[in-house]
Amino acid sequence: MIRRDYLIVGAGVGGASVCEGIREHDKKGTVMLVGAESFPPYHRPLLLKSQLAKNPQPIEKIAALSLEWFHKHHIDLRLDTLVTQINLERHLAVLEAEPELGFSFANLVRTEDGKVLPGTQFDLVPRLRELPTRPSRGGKAQVIQMDPFAALGPCPDLPGWMQASLYRRAVMEGCMSKQGIRPAEDLYLILQIYARGMPTAFIDEVLVEVRRHGKNSYTNSDQIREAVLRTLHLVDTDIALSPEQRAILHRRIGDEYLRRGWRHFWSHDADRARQYYRDALAWPGTKLSAWTHLAMLPLLPVLPRREPAF
Ligand SMILES: Cc1cc2nc3c(=O)[nH]c(=O)nc-3n(C[C@H](O)[C@H](O)[C@H](O)COP(=O)(O)OP(=O)(O)OC[C@H]3O[C@@H](n4cnc5c(N)ncnc54)[C@H](O)[C@@H]3O)c2cc1C
Repeated sequence: MIRRDYLIVGAGVGGASVCEGIREHDKKGTVMLVGAESFPPYHRPLLLKSQLAKNPQPIEKIAALSLEWFHKHHIDLRLDTLVTQINLERHLAVLEAEPELGFSFANLVRTEDGKVLPGTQFDLVPRLRELPTRPSRGGKAQVIQMDPFAALGPCPDLPGWMQASLYRRAVMEGCMSKQGIRPAEDLYLILQIYARGMPTAFIDEVLVEVRRHGKNSYTNSDQIREAVLRTLHLVDTDIALSPEQRAILHRRIGDEYLRRGWRHFWSHDADRARQYYRDALAWPGTKLSAWTHLAMLPLLPVLPRREPAF
């Protein structure tokens, strides 16, 4: 049990002022300020103006008191923490802290040219349903109970559902986007974020409607897969990964070549199928499929054609 002389619930301007008041009269008493938000107390009325400006201001610019102030005055500031119970007679409070969620992504209805497409984004990514999760503190999201790189990095459907995500600012700091890889640029960014290991959650309710059109849409699936493959290689060369993460990434690269080989095999493009299956063999992963299909190439003329599954 943690003991404090003063517990202040709510890290808004009011809470900050109480801290100042206490320190005016009591320099030594132990103080804890608990706030459900991720930021130290800020001036709420200035929020809209500062965030909707052409060049949004960092939240520190509208802070009521800086983090340094709390540190200097020995005030135990607990952010992202909720006080769920208070028993005044016994001087007890229960605090609940959500692990620092790195980001969450929302389930989306998909529409194209005004038409609603069947299924939500979660229906398109069965892997999400298989991941071990627990309800979030508020009960509105499912927190993935795995390292996000291991959980989501291997998922080949990634770029499709990255259109509505909420990132904690601290997770984004230092992350890069990349020009020239338009359809998969989210993947470049998101793999960097996964690599930081911050807990991830998904919101299992339909929140947003997304419409892809014009420059925002893909002209064909080859275009997406080319960009995905190039992006994965760029992540491999550009981003600092742990050995475990790199092993996952290399397997994913092998899988991407395999999928490409499969696609060209069943559309009877023997040269490209051969090229991609050979590429797949250079990476870790299931090699059996690549060898089997390479051995079957001479049989292509008598095999049926199949529609690509992606
Ligand atoms: C859009 C908007 C515009 C405004 N404009 C003006 C203006 O122009 N001029 C003006 O004077 N006032 C304005 N106000 C009002 C002003 O923002 C409030 O009066 C002021 O923020 C109140 O401060 P507070 O610290 O008491 O509460 P809040 O700022 O509401 O802070 C309370 C904090 O406590 C946290 N909290 C609540 N319950 C718990 C719990 N159980 N555990 C942990 N944390 C908890 C909340 O998450 C919140 O961060 C505006 C408010 C809004 C929303």
